[in-house]
Amino acid sequence: MIEVKHLTKRYGGHTAVSDLSFEIDKGVIYGFLGPNGAGKSTTMNIITGCLGATEGEVLVDGHSVSEEPMEAKKRIGYLPELPPLYTDMTPEEYLRFVAEAKGVSRKEQAEQIAAIMEKTGITQVSHRLIRNLSKGYRQRVGIAQALLGKPEVIILDEPTVGLDPAQIIEIRDLIRELGKEHTIVLSSHILSEVQAVCDSIMIISGGKLVASDTTENLTRRFAGTQTLRLEADADEKTMRKVLDRVDGIASVEVKPEEKESTVLLVKAEEDKDIRAKVFKAFAKENVTLLEMTTVHADLEDVFLELTQSDAPAQSETAAQAPDTAEEEKTGEEEAQ
Ligand code: ADP
Ligand code: MG
Repeated sequence: MIEVKHLTKRYGGHTAVSDLSFEIDKGVIYGFLGPNGAGKSTTMNIITGCLGATEGEVLVDGHSVSEEPMEAKKRIGYLPELPPLYTDMTPEEYLRFVAEAKGVSRKEQAEQIAAIMEKTGITQVSHRLIRNLSKGYRQRVGIAQALLGKPEVIILDEPTVGLDPAQIIEIRDLIRELGKEHTIVLSSHILSEVQAVCDSIMIISGGKLVASDTTENLTRRFAGTQTLRLEADADEKTMRKVLDRVDGIASVEVKPEEKESTVLLVKAEEDKDIRAKVFKAFAKENVTLLEMTTVHADLEDVFLELTQSDAPAQSETAAQAPDTAEEEKTGEEEAQ
């Protein structure tokens, strides 16, 4: 559906995106994951034809974004990081305006706008001024304008940023719903967010792709080693003695908690599930195991490791060098 080939974007001396290549397949929800400054917005702006690339090309259904912009752009709906909402309009007026700009025929406009407002849940606020709407509703209006013209692919740049927890859940549900009919690419700097919504994840750091796989595979890979939190009605020495009898343990450490009982963190060797053995060993030695839980925190750790070690020279600080500011003044970005 979309092919990104050797994409590079330089702002003066600063490389924001470096030789990025990947493919977007039809019908999948992709998560474009990376810390702030990783190059997510830059990549999305290039894919949607809002920004020119320094090197490389993007094909949408075989149409080059730079050479056949009309053909490429009509297949994509885009919600930029800062949605271009006209706050003095009502959602309905605004959607009519965007439909006109996208060349949706007059005949189709009313029907399409009504259907999209229904789908995005803004029908009941369609006659209020956008400026008076909550951030959650404004974001829905932003998503609605992306859907106009019935594009196959919807690209959403940090769609849940700045929303409260309830609004985040609503927008996530909406995105999942849209994923049934569209190919979706959304960006986020939050691992749990893309895990919750996306089928496939691309991790970008310092303008480079550092990992790309299905959410399931990445989760399994990240969480390859099992960590158990064990709480027992015994002292550390007794617990360690029991654990000595269990195969497949890589390390044991005490977790200081203000409790009568003892809490240990037990790391298994790679790809080993030691839960049954641990349970049986405690039962056999007649030591009371009060609680055994799997700790999932290492997923976040691996993400941090992946995205920090790969970008020593292209941190946010580097991006604030003087040449960056100069570049911004030249007005590199073209209007859509
Ligand atoms: P993300 O969306 O992942 O936070 P961006 O694509 O916005 O990252 O930015 C990638 C890098 O490019 C950052 O280091 C950022 O400071 C820099 N950058 C983005 N836009 C410009 C611009 N218009 N001029 C100069 N540098 C820019
Ligand atoms: Mg961004």
